[in-house]
Amino acid sequence: MMAQYLEIKGQYPDALLFYRMGDFYEMFFDDAVDAAGALDIALTKRGKHLGEDIPMCGVPVHSAEGYLLTLIRKGFRVAVCEQMEDPVEAKKRGSKSVVKRDVVRLVTPGTLTEESLLDARRHNFLAAYAEVRDEGALAWVDISTGAFRVMPCTRSRLSPELARIGPREVLLSEAVEADLAELVTDLGATPTPLSRGSFDSTSGEKRLTALFQVGTLEAFGSFTRPETAALGAIVDYLDITQKGKLPLLRPPARESASQSVQIDAATRRNLELTHALAGGRDGSLLHCIDRTVTAGGARLLERRLSSPSRDLATIHARHEAVAFCLDDRTLADALREDLRRVPDIDRALSRLALDRGGPRDLAAIRNGLTQALAIAERLENRDLPALFETARHDLTGHDTLHDTLDQALVAEPPLLVRDGGFIAEGYDGELDEARTLRDEGRSVIAGMQADYAAETGIASLKIKHNNVLGYFIECTATHADKMLALSDRFIHRQTTANAVRFTTVDLSEMETKILNASGRAGEIEKRLYDSLRSQITDHAAALNTLARAVAEIDLATALADLAAAESWTRPKVDDSRAFHVENGRHPVVERALRAQGGDPFIANDADLSGDGESAAIWLLTGPNMAGKSTFLRQNALIALLAQMGSYVPAKAAHIGLVSQLFSRVGASDDLARGRSTFMVEMVETAAILNQADDRALVILDEIGRGTATYDGLSIAWATLEHLHDVNRCRALFATHYHELTQLADRLSGVENATVAVKEWEGDVIFLHEVRKGAADRSYGVQVARLAGLPPAVVDRARDVLAQLEEGAREGKSGAKMLLDDLPLFSAAPPAPPPQPKQGPSPLEQRLAEIHPDDLSPRDALDLLYQLKSLS
Ligand code: ADP
Repeated sequence: MMAQYLEIKGQYPDALLFYRMGDFYEMFFDDAVDAAGALDIALTKRGKHLGEDIPMCGVPVHSAEGYLLTLIRKGFRVAVCEQMEDPVEAKKRGSKSVVKRDVVRLVTPGTLTEESLLDARRHNFLAAYAEVRDEGALAWVDISTGAFRVMPCTRSRLSPELARIGPREVLLSEAVEADLAELVTDLGATPTPLSRGSFDSTSGEKRLTALFQVGTLEAFGSFTRPETAALGAIVDYLDITQKGKLPLLRPPARESASQSVQIDAATRRNLELTHALAGGRDGSLLHCIDRTVTAGGARLLERRLSSPSRDLATIHARHEAVAFCLDDRTLADALREDLRRVPDIDRALSRLALDRGGPRDLAAIRNGLTQALAIAERLENRDLPALFETARHDLTGHDTLHDTLDQALVAEPPLLVRDGGFIAEGYDGELDEARTLRDEGRSVIAGMQADYAAETGIASLKIKHNNVLGYFIECTATHADKMLALSDRFIHRQTTANAVRFTTVDLSEMETKILNASGRAGEIEKRLYDSLRSQITDHAAALNTLARAVAEIDLATALADLAAAESWTRPKVDDSRAFHVENGRHPVVERALRAQGGDPFIANDADLSGDGESAAIWLLTGPNMAGKSTFLRQNALIALLAQMGSYVPAKAAHIGLVSQLFSRVGASDDLARGRSTFMVEMVETAAILNQADDRALVILDEIGRGTATYDGLSIAWATLEHLHDVNRCRALFATHYHELTQLADRLSGVENATVAVKEWEGDVIFLHEVRKGAADRSYGVQVARLAGLPPAVVDRARDVLAQLEEGAREGKSGAKMLLDDLPLFSAAPPAPPPQPKQGPSPLEQRLAEIHPDDLSPRDALDLLYQLKSLS
């Protein structure tokens, strides 16, 4: 057995091997050590290999999914190796014979289908990035819906596109893996290296044409070589992981980068679109606005929010659908009630396609069709907006399949096919007969006994059963002759001291039937299951379209529900350059404030239309904590919500199409990635200045903060000028450099705005009101006091500030004056008397050896501990 184990394990060196032994999946050697640690289960041992104990651990098959989930989350891949024959068969070959085993599936983060392993409300994408010479392409698939997409993608666009799609796993060719694996990991996905052969575009084309049974890929559009390579790599990988059982992939469709607003990874993170900065979904915009009631609807919302549209017709159609729901709330509420009962059609379908499903998946399709019909009926004879009209059409047309499933299935089927009992009575005569025999075998036999008694006139005749003869007819020896005379009908089996036993053709047929009935019922059910399954998968494309229609309706009604509850309005989106928001709010901050039950959120206007009334760039000053960041972000979110087709948190909004959205925060802590914070800030700012076009919306928060004052000020100054003169985009620029406010006089397209505060008895009160004009001062000292800095420090800071300001008024360097006039270091302890030199101490020696530039933050921390131990 160990030989078999090692042979199979040898084929899957990168995966944990779940080796099926009876009711357990066992793991051995290093796999066992890793898994026992990751799963927190006992590590035992079994036998010896090369004289050493073999470590072993195992998980029960019936609860394996939970363990699988933990392992996948922890970044493992798992090869599931099953017994491919009954152990009885193996025994027949000889006592030493090992049960045949084979890996039936490789479980990886991007190829999950089990309900328990997936987050129902999120997509689970698998992506592949390919390069052919200087061209690149990105392909991705959700095997639970079959949606298969591809787009041209350069290396520099890879990060934003991956951030938009959010795949769980990214396939990389060995040729590029080394450079890109970190980028993929940074975005929270698992990089998986594949051989160059998997990425070969010629073999890719062969795989794709074979899969879709077409002569040439041209049938789906013309694809570049890297596109074919990326698509082909995905098909190859699915083949490897699913062991030949391919999911129902839809023909690949090309997505173009110009369809949606371009948003890079840093902006997504910073605006907390789908994940909060703290990690997790709570606190993200998605979490705040999600009122969908179906899993498909939730996934559609996430997709929409990740790629807001740039197509006016699409945007308007979506707004129209929300407006329709708001106009008829009774209808919308009724629809939502129907929707709540819609199961996850896409995922049931994908499990059925991969033959990993069960009776409940059949029932999910049936229930989905029933609900779809109910929804379509509600929408009948109404004046529908285009989106609803299309959806209504897509919901119908499956009557035959629906009727079949309706008649075939019981109301609440069991999970597994082998549990049986999911096919309804009356659907299949043969099955009903088998079940009757199984369940009522005894009464059937009892019936026969009465018949035989009547036929032979022997009232004491009995039908009995034993293990040797099975069922038999028995009468006392006295009646033997009577029975033997009927020998063409009653076949003699046995004579005992006082009884004679017979059987009949009918009885032995019945016996076989009874004995096999249970097995037969199971077989028939399995056959019917397979037939229903293939009827469903034959309709897969149409069922996916139906699921999409359900999701669209769910999303429209959910957005309407949100708009009504939160008083959001329909934005006007056109191809002007306008950006005018009246009484805008930040949905997440507003909700948080409400939850705290404190002050209400203060709504604010923004106008970046650059039309003479208002400049395209606002330079926002004001003390910390005044609400600058909130204001900046809320305007970005409003643009994004408008273009994804939602209403917006404002009294009115007029948005000229935004093509790109950029948002940067100065000196965000990026220590985790071991890069200098200022460097990150500058790299990100450079990306904006190089890429933003005149339709971009740029949000810059405290750029330049990560360096010395004059450096920072100069960089912020030059950045602002560049945005104004070269990028010519709409922008909100928050800064604490008051000097910048002078720029507004010089640059016609820049206007000053400030978040108002009131001073009261030496304290600041934040009004959170954005007004035009520059802030008069920064109130840093007051804010520090609010934050609880010791009073002595606050007082001292006040003195220093007063001196600096006075110095500035008199045209002298304030700092110089301070050094002259104030005992600045009065609090410092007196310097110790000089010690006679004795050569460097171990501590000094160690210090001299350090090269700070070469240290990662982690090394630095380790070093600190070392130094501490030397002191
Ligand atoms: P800044 O960027 O100026 O330091 P923030 O935008 O981070 O300030 O806001 C600080 C806090 O002030 C927020 O966490 C929020 O609680 C509150 N706040 C911000 N804007 C508003 C507003 N418009 N209405 C009410 N409270 C607000």
